[in-house]
Amino acid sequence: VTLGSNQIVLIAGPCSVESRTQTLEVAHAIKEAGANMLRGGAYKPRSSPYSFQGLGEAGLEILADVRAETGLPIVTEVMAPEMVPLVASFADMLQIGARNMQNYPLLNAVGESQRPVLLKRGLSATIEELLMAAEYVLSHGNRQVALCERGIRTFETATRNTTDINAIPVLKAQSHLPIFLDPSHSTGNWQYVGAVARAGIAAGADGLIVEVHMHPERALSDGGQSLKPERFAEMVRQVRLIAEAVGRELTPVS
Ligand code: PEP
Ligand code: MN
Repeated sequence: VTLGSNQIVLIAGPCSVESRTQTLEVAHAIKEAGANMLRGGAYKPRSSPYSFQGLGEAGLEILADVRAETGLPIVTEVMAPEMVPLVASFADMLQIGARNMQNYPLLNAVGESQRPVLLKRGLSATIEELLMAAEYVLSHGNRQVALCERGIRTFETATRNTTDINAIPVLKAQSHLPIFLDPSHSTGNWQYVGAVARAGIAAGADGLIVEVHMHPERALSDGGQSLKPERFAEMVRQVRLIAEAVGRELTPVS
C-alpha cells in the first residue's frame, strides 16, 4: 500500500482486537467495502485503568493471522519504547497514539525501527508540536511517517473532540508527509463520522482511519463511535464521490 499518492488509502477496523472471530469477520467486511488496511489495538491506552486494556501479545497474533487470511496490512498501536521490537515483528505500521505524541523515548524507538509510523496528533498539541514530534522519528532514520489529525480538545462538549479541518491544508503546506484523518475519534459518535470523513477528503487528506465493528453495542472500547460494516460501505461510496470531485481516487483493494 502506497501512502501519499493521488490515491486515497482507507484504514478501518475495530478500536480493539477482542477475539479472533471478531477481528476476522470485520476484516473481511471492511475489505469487501473497500478498505486497504486493517486497524486494531492490542495494547490500548485507556483513560481508566479499570477499562479493557487490550489482549496484548495474543492480540498481535490474531492480527497476524487475520492478515494472512485477508491480505490486509495491519496498523496497531505501540505504547512503550521497549515494546517496539515485539510490536514491529507483527505489525506493518506502528501507530503512536494521541496520548503518546510527545513521548520522546517512544518516538526515538520507532525512529530506529524499519516499520512505517502513523503519528496521531496529541489531544492538546499544536500543529507545530505534531510536526516536531514527526521530526523525532525522521531524525532517528525512519523516513516513513504519516501524520493523523484525530480531533483536539476544545470547549465544545457536543462531540468527543473537535475536528481541526484546518490542520489538513496547513500540514499539507508545511510538510511533505502523508496526512490522515480519523473521523471516529474526532467526533466520538458514529452518526457524524461519514460527514467528517467527507470533509477530510475534500480538504485534501491522503487517507482515513475509521473504527468499524460488527456489533458496536457490544464493543469493548469505542462502540459509540464505531460504524457497522454497512455504514462503513456507505461512507466509502460517498468518500469516493468526494475524492473524484477533487481530482483523486481511492486505492483499489488488491
Ligand atoms: C485509537 O486509535 O483507538 C486511539 C486510542 O486513538 P487516539 O490515540 O487518537 O486516541
Ligand atoms: Mn478507539
